[in-house]
Amino acid sequence: MNPTLETRILPAGEAAVAAAARTLAAGGLVAFPTETVYGLGADAANPTAIAHLYAAKGRPAFNPLIAHVSDLAAARKIARFDAAAEKLAHAFWPGPLTLVLPKADGCVVADLATAGLDTVAVRVPAHAVAREILRAFGGPVVAPSANLSGHVSPTTAAHVDSDLAGRIDLIVDGGPVEVGVESTIVGCFDSPMLLRPGGVPREEIERALGRALAQPPQEIESDSAQPLAPGMLASHYAPRTRVRLQADSVERGEALLAFGLHRLHGADNAVAMLNLSERSDLDEAAANLFGYLRSLDAKGARTIAVMPIPNEGLGEAINDRLRRAAVGRA
Ligand code: AMP
Ligand code: MG
Repeated sequence: MNPTLETRILPAGEAAVAAAARTLAAGGLVAFPTETVYGLGADAANPTAIAHLYAAKGRPAFNPLIAHVSDLAAARKIARFDAAAEKLAHAFWPGPLTLVLPKADGCVVADLATAGLDTVAVRVPAHAVAREILRAFGGPVVAPSANLSGHVSPTTAAHVDSDLAGRIDLIVDGGPVEVGVESTIVGCFDSPMLLRPGGVPREEIERALGRALAQPPQEIESDSAQPLAPGMLASHYAPRTRVRLQADSVERGEALLAFGLHRLHGADNAVAMLNLSERSDLDEAAANLFGYLRSLDAKGARTIAVMPIPNEGLGEAINDRLRRAAVGRA
C-alpha cells in the first residue's frame, strides 16, 4: 500500500457521491457511513483494490468481506436466493442484516473478497449516503469497518480519519452513524442459521421466517460430517490437494505456487506452475492468492509446493491463509 496518500474528506452530497463512485471505479478506497458503522469501501470485483483495503486496515488475516449492493436486484446478480433468503431480504432490506448465500453464476465478487469460499455475504445498507454511493458506482462494494485492525469500529468521520488518514483516498462525512453495532449475519443453507448476532435481533428474524434459526455447529470449520453443501459453512477455503509450505525444490508430480524470480531446483518437474508475483509484490500476491490456489487444486497434482513468502505487510495474511490451507479442514 501507499502510506502517503492524500486522504480527502468531503461532506456528504452530490459532489462527494460522484467522487466516491469515481474513486471506487479507479480501484481506490472510500470510507462512507452505513447505518451500522463507517465502512471502508473497495470495488468488490477488483482484487487489487481489495488487497489495498487489507493493507490499509493492517489486517493480519483475510476474513471474507460483506458485499454491499444498492437493492435486491443487484444482490441477485451475485448470490442465489432460496425461499428463506427471499423472505429475509423482503423483511429487512435495506437494513443491518447480512445474508450468506451461494454465489450466483457469473458472480463478479473477487475470490479475495470471499476468501476463496463458494458463498458470498451480501447486504443492502439503509443509510441514504451509502445507497447513493452504491447506486452511482453501479456494482457491489466490499466494506469492512473503516478502522485499523484491532481498533474499535468508527461511528464518525473523525474516527476514520484518525485511523486511516494517509492510507485511503476519500472519506465521505455523513455525520455520526446511528446503530454502531455490526450487521446480523444469517447463513441461508439447508436451514437458515445465525452466524453472528447484530443490529437485527434474532426474534425479529425468526418471526419473519416463521421458524427458529438453527445454531451453527460448534466446530464451524469442520466439514467432516458434510452436513451442508461442501464449503458452505467452512470459514475458510482449503484446497483438496495437499499443500507443502516453504518449498526449496519441486518433486515429481507436484504443482508449484511460486513467488518472485528465484527458480527452484526441480521446477521443470512441476505439473503446473503459477507465480503469485514475479516482482515479489505482496499486494499483487494477495490479489492472486485464492484464484491461483483454486487453479492449482484442479490440476490433479500430488501436492502443491509453495515457495516462501516474506512475513511482512500483506505477507502475514498470505502466510496465515497458506498455513490453514496446509492443515486442511480436518
Ligand atoms: P464485517 O466484520 O461486518 O465486515 O463482517 C465480516 C464477517 O462476515 C466475516 O468476518 C465473517 O464472519 C462473515 N462472512 C462474510 N462472508 C462470509 C461467508 N461467505 N461465509 C461465512 N461468513 C462470512
Ligand atoms: Mg471491524
